[in-house]
Amino acid sequence: MDLKKRSWAEPFKIKMVEPLRMTSREERVIAISESGYNTFLLKSKDVYIDLLTDSGTNAMSQDQWAGMMIGDESYAGSENFYNLEKNVQKFYGYKYLIPTHQGRGAENIISKILIKNGDYVPGNMYFTTTRLHQELSGATFVDVIIDDAHDSQNLNPFKGNVDLKKLDSLINKVGAEKIPYISVAATVNMAGGQPIAISNLREVRKLASKNKIKVLLDATRAIENAYFIKIREEEFKNKSLAEILKEMCSYTDGCTMSGKKDLLVNIGGFLALNDFEIFEEARNMVVIYEGLHTYGGLAGRDMEAMSRGIDEAVSEDHMKARIGQVEYVGNKLIELEIPIVQPIGGHAVFLDAKKFLPHLNQLQFPAQTLAAELYLESGIRAMERGIVSAGRNKDTGENFLPKLELVRLTFPRRVYTQAHCDVLVESIYEVYQRRNEVKGLKMVYEPKYLRFFQARFEPIL
Ligand SMILES: *Cc1c(COP(=O)(O)O)cnc(C)c1O
Repeated sequence: MDLKKRSWAEPFKIKMVEPLRMTSREERVIAISESGYNTFLLKSKDVYIDLLTDSGTNAMSQDQWAGMMIGDESYAGSENFYNLEKNVQKFYGYKYLIPTHQGRGAENIISKILIKNGDYVPGNMYFTTTRLHQELSGATFVDVIIDDAHDSQNLNPFKGNVDLKKLDSLINKVGAEKIPYISVAATVNMAGGQPIAISNLREVRKLASKNKIKVLLDATRAIENAYFIKIREEEFKNKSLAEILKEMCSYTDGCTMSGKKDLLVNIGGFLALNDFEIFEEARNMVVIYEGLHTYGGLAGRDMEAMSRGIDEAVSEDHMKARIGQVEYVGNKLIELEIPIVQPIGGHAVFLDAKKFLPHLNQLQFPAQTLAAELYLESGIRAMERGIVSAGRNKDTGENFLPKLELVRLTFPRRVYTQAHCDVLVESIYEVYQRRNEVKGLKMVYEPKYLRFFQARFEPIL
């Protein structure tokens, strides 16, 4: 124990608890085989520590729960909508707000409005639903993230940055009129929760403006990104997270948002825009897919909880403990020489399955295998982020073979304790010690879209 250094600690205490169920190994063997070795198909009652995702799994505060009680469930013009609108304007800085049931609802609407068949959408690595909505609207997604992002051991503090040369060469190749917008994610999930620097965002904005291309932010984890900017980008060390967030957004024309991440709620999202004409179209369209423009598929109480979540998410004490917990686990794994993506990400620790199980080839699904193995070991649920998530090329039908083959251990906000974290580290270490005995999987059922959610596997004997 380093007594010179103060530990991070949660800026809250616990008032209500949810019991967890422990299972035996025999029960887990049955559960994972019935789930086709896909952790998405496990029943949550069979899971002990659930690190599948940080999406909608957050613990709300007493203030958010109090907000739920003042839900104004009017069909139109709910008070809670105006509260949310005010807070999005205040903290994100965009003019117009359209609530959606979650992030992908916003992605659907904006993709349909801005993309024409044959367009190209460049982005700093893809996100599953974001890319799919872009493709379904007729675009080809082009990854323009810096090469460092594909190297799990590269210590670049801003592995989420856009490679401006790649972006510029795409513009020259296909022409600016074929690029409706640049899709910029803040903390890039698929790269391991890696942030983008403001200095890079400024350059992206400059290049985009020069070519009259819009920039859209995936703001899902933008506040976590703001925290990394504060501690890693010299210019911002004395700025508040709220100030940094506002500046990030100021270089973009709008955002899609999954409130289920940064904003500490269980459901909710939004589309926010500066351009009135696009907003007007989106406001028409939201009625078809989500609901009236003042509720977008959400109950009034959900909008209230999300609005209050913004105030809490920009608190530095909150973010320090949030990211502190993830780093606590990551640093313990590094000490044990277990291969993880570095630097440690904002919302998750990513095990490098290629290095963890080097005897498996990528078509034996090393990350899928490792996630199943970790569940068998201790009932901990993680998620594959590798070849299964990457899917197939929509034109050739070939599997994408991503360089990164990762198992994501994602931390719900304000949910698990440090002792849970210790059990997690011990379980991973246990699997690591017997890694040579671990055999791969074969896919026996493959859905057409977003296959990772429902694909089924069998062990290779
Ligand atoms: C979760 C997520 C989305 C999609 O949001 P949903 O609320 O799950 O529909 C989009 N982008 C990123 C980066 C996400 O993490």
